[in-house]
Amino acid sequence: MSSIDDARARVLELRKLIDEANRQYYVLDRPEITDAEYDALFRELVELETQYPELVTPDSPTQRVGGPPSDAFAKVTHRTPMLSLGNAFDRDEVREFDKRVHRALGDVRVEYVTELKIDGLAMSLLYEQGRYKIGATRGDGYVGEDVTPNVKTIPSVPLSVTIPKEFPQTFEVRGEVYMPKRSFQRLNAELAAEGKPPFANPRNAAAGAVRQLDPRITARRRLDTFIYALDPPGSAKSQEQILERLAQMGFHVNDNRRTHPDIEAVIAFLDDWQEKRHGLDYEIDGIVIKVNDLGQQAELGFVSRSPRWALAFKFPPEQAETVVEEIKIYIGRTGAATPVAWLRPTQIAGVTVSRATLHNEDEVARKDVRPQDYVIIQRAGDVIPEVVRVLKEKRPTSSRPWHMPKQCPECGTDLVREPGEAATRCINPTCPAQVLEHLRHFVGSLDIEGLGYATLQQLIDRKLVKDPADLYHLTKAQLLSLEGFADKSAQNLVDRIEASKATTFLRFLVSLGINHVGWTMAGLLADHFGTIDRLESASVDDLRSIGGVGPTVAEGVHDYFQLPASRALIERLLQTGIVIKQPERREGPLTGKTFVLTGTLSSVTRGQAEERIKSLGGAIGSNVTKKTDYLIVGADPGSKLEKAQRLKVPVLDEAALLALLGQ
Ligand code: NAD
Repeated sequence: MSSIDDARARVLELRKLIDEANRQYYVLDRPEITDAEYDALFRELVELETQYPELVTPDSPTQRVGGPPSDAFAKVTHRTPMLSLGNAFDRDEVREFDKRVHRALGDVRVEYVTELKIDGLAMSLLYEQGRYKIGATRGDGYVGEDVTPNVKTIPSVPLSVTIPKEFPQTFEVRGEVYMPKRSFQRLNAELAAEGKPPFANPRNAAAGAVRQLDPRITARRRLDTFIYALDPPGSAKSQEQILERLAQMGFHVNDNRRTHPDIEAVIAFLDDWQEKRHGLDYEIDGIVIKVNDLGQQAELGFVSRSPRWALAFKFPPEQAETVVEEIKIYIGRTGAATPVAWLRPTQIAGVTVSRATLHNEDEVARKDVRPQDYVIIQRAGDVIPEVVRVLKEKRPTSSRPWHMPKQCPECGTDLVREPGEAATRCINPTCPAQVLEHLRHFVGSLDIEGLGYATLQQLIDRKLVKDPADLYHLTKAQLLSLEGFADKSAQNLVDRIEASKATTFLRFLVSLGINHVGWTMAGLLADHFGTIDRLESASVDDLRSIGGVGPTVAEGVHDYFQLPASRALIERLLQTGIVIKQPERREGPLTGKTFVLTGTLSSVTRGQAEERIKSLGGAIGSNVTKKTDYLIVGADPGSKLEKAQRLKVPVLDEAALLALLGQ
């Protein structure tokens, strides 16, 4: 940097970039740049501020921790600040840290404890009289978010602990809440299937799970904890003893910790774990090195945002450069078309990577990834490789932007992307990539018991079934040829399939698996059109004229019925002898009451609950309005819950609903 003016300009620019990255990361849980890129910006800012101390301001990101606590939660002021840690990116920086420690403490022996740096979310847990009282996020280090009920759902958080006699009854522990690799992958797969962007790393996913307004969602995300701090420490004299005591008290403490006589032993530990970390079932992004003796820790004290007695050694990012040979489309089981980069095979940390997900069309456009591009790829979440960035300077001049293909590579049907959706889909009901999921949906909607995924997969593999209409041509002999069937079970299944032919228009419509058409929407369409013929020939305007049917659904339904494959399927289904009964309007105890449902019910399907409500005379609405009488809330509810609370619409849980339905 040639002058202080240049430095000032760069400092301002860096602060802006870092502030924005912090917002994406801490407030939205969705970083736009990688941790390595963030660390490089942060480091540059630290270096400039060290060179020109007059440029340091109290609001510089180097003086602060984390992000502001969200207003969606009550605030908790930490008893002592929850700080960050100084970082080291190579072994020499670790040795420098040791020198600083020795300079400050004089000529004494210093032991270090190393702990795995869990890629999770820092959490404070306050216990009173040995009972769990408050769970709070780190927030900006001083004030965090009160997430007490959410943290309570994490199985490894003890709700009460037996504490030794001499130990204070009120104490605080700190540690990481993290999402195990398997849960992380499952969550990202679910998000991708819903066309939503995946989480960049388990830490953001854990933060997203903890910072939920509904603790039931937190509970479903399968989180875990590792605890490493205890305040006050009681009779413990070292970090090692603190960890032992925490484990004795029943907290989940990571076993992969070690005490070392000197810094070279610490460095051997780092080398060891850089290799071994992939075998863990949770992510670590480095190793935390702490001065073991609590007296020495107190002597070393703190700088603005981190203790002088600890250091976070960060593993190098697992990135590599390679070439995108092609971008192909992969059709998922739900019809979502995911662009995948086919890469020139390259090694990252001992693993050959030849594919990287590009998530969806918008992600490809945002990163502007094109065939023949040189790219940096990264094993995000250690497992699913993704493209971080294109090296545009190496791009061939002949390169053209990539566009989503028009047709499904599996069945040639035109792909559809609806306004406001990230996912592009193949909506062909007989697309080979989606057969299994379609069949499962079909049998579920028609309540045909005994046709699980395994049986359906066998039927597909043996080419006995390729679409739902084929189910009605199955014979007992064919079923007997499958694994797991005996004379009686085969006959029962044939009978159940036969019995499902007597159905209602509502059920039939749901069973078709049209995108956006669940039980509620199907109910609106069934009520309005009454017959499949009328619905098939409805125009987009006809559909839009129905209250509760928006433009996306109207287009989607219309598109579905325009597809020759859809019409052929319906025709074939009707030819099997399916009889669609006209539902009678019933009077009952719920007549005059309108119910709206949100979230997933556990003991009945949503469709069954809706049918039952209707059979008792109740009506089903698709949106919460002032006229709604009850909102029924299952697990993972949507925004309807907040709306109902705002409009003071009574909210019933599943147990209350069942009681109302007399079940
Ligand atoms: P940090 O992650 O570098 O280290 C401090 C944290 O480590 C502690 O707060 C604690 O939560 C955690 N930790 C894990 N195991 C621990 C253990 N055994 N003992 C003590 N602490 C342990 O610092 P930070 O302030 O939490 O976050 C900054 C980092 O976050 C950056 O270096 C970057 O990697 C990432 N970040 C990324 C972006 C982005 O846009 N990609 C933005 C902001 C921050």
